[in-house]
Amino acid sequence: MILSPEYELMRKNFRNFAETEFTAELQDRLDREGGFDWDMHDKMAKYGFLGCKIPEEYGGQGGDTLAYVLMVEEFARVSPVLAIYANTPNSLGCGALLSYGSEEQKKTYIPLLASGEKNFCFALTEPGAGSDAGSLMTRAVKDGEDYILNGRKCFISGAPISDYAIVYARTNPALKGNKGISMFIVDLKLPGISIGKHENKMGINGYPTSDIVFENVRVPKTQLLGPLDKGFAAAMKTLNGGRLGVAAQSLGIAQACLEESISYAKQRKQFGKPICKNQAISFMIADMATEIAAARELIYSTAIEKDAGAKDAPMKCSMCKYFTSEMANRVAAKAIQIHGGYGYMKEYRVERLYRDARIMTLYEGTSQVQQMVISGNLLK
Ligand SMILES: Cc1cc2nc3c(=O)[nH]c(=O)nc-3n(C[C@H](O)[C@H](O)[C@H](O)COP(=O)(O)OP(=O)(O)OC[C@H]3O[C@@H](n4cnc5c(N)ncnc54)[C@H](O)[C@@H]3O)c2cc1C
Repeated sequence: MILSPEYELMRKNFRNFAETEFTAELQDRLDREGGFDWDMHDKMAKYGFLGCKIPEEYGGQGGDTLAYVLMVEEFARVSPVLAIYANTPNSLGCGALLSYGSEEQKKTYIPLLASGEKNFCFALTEPGAGSDAGSLMTRAVKDGEDYILNGRKCFISGAPISDYAIVYARTNPALKGNKGISMFIVDLKLPGISIGKHENKMGINGYPTSDIVFENVRVPKTQLLGPLDKGFAAAMKTLNGGRLGVAAQSLGIAQACLEESISYAKQRKQFGKPICKNQAISFMIADMATEIAAARELIYSTAIEKDAGAKDAPMKCSMCKYFTSEMANRVAAKAIQIHGGYGYMKEYRVERLYRDARIMTLYEGTSQVQQMVISGNLLK
């Protein structure tokens, strides 16, 4: 797709920022030690990246979905982890608030997210409810002016560094399956909330993940977000936007793997010539580039269609995530193969990219869940 000069300039700016600021030292430290880099978070906030897609009236930059996917792609091309810093507030953090918040809730919370003053996480998954999120057990029981929350959420990205969580809880157990679930804006400092230990992950180290446990947590009823008992549809709508973000992360990872592989294959010599002179290697590079080009077209066109309100945009967001996350894993595996034994060593970027790519087919709905969404749309 030929982008207008305005979008090309945006891409250039996103790339410049990432290449200048996401230093190899910072990336190595985050991979080694985990944790979270508050300086980088604050810097991204200062440049407006945390509110890239958030409307200006709520303190954001008012960018469209194409600008957002360009940002996430360019950031992930340099560091998939640091891309998540900018991705989260624009997608899972503010998605439900923007779509379902009252004007008062939007005015209270979204500017805090856009400015980076407060972090939000998205708490849907539970130990017994992953792909089948509609079977969640966390309960919210009305008690006077409050709801009392009890339950456990797991694998929550950003929980250890968040001030608030959008929590999904069952408000009406008499309703079956996906029905009877509501959303709450929960202050994570309320009594009865504990945040679990940081999970020890294969990749995306530097953006912490943990459990959140709720024990008789008293949440004021004003914190109910959206209509009572209809929170599950809201979760799915939020995830549509999020899935496009994961697709853009995957695209950036794949692009980085391709660039590393081209450069390595040109300089590494075996049998007296660069390895790229072997068709086995050059054809791998051709396959990688072709799949990346196809994913990019799908993502950009879906971003435009989503903003235009196209009816099948939610399904296409699933297609983007399904195709690009699987593609990034294929491409990362080829990048390791092209690097030979060196690709297995931590000094080479492709080693980390391979590990970081692995989460892409899992979170925000596994590939199998995307297949269910896509086929469900086509066969209804
Ligand atoms: C690093 C990380 C960060 C995360 N961040 C968040 C977050 O911020 N917020 C949040 O709420 N959740 C988060 N998650 C949770 C994530 O969304 C879930 O892990 C994911 O949805 C899968 O659920 P599960 O792990 O329970 O796997 P399961 O649902 O148990 O699935 C196991 C396997 O079975 C397959 N499967 C399940 N059902 C079917 C079916 N009907 N047909 C075919 N195959 C099926 C799955 O595709 C998968 O391959 C995160 C997870 C990780 C690892």
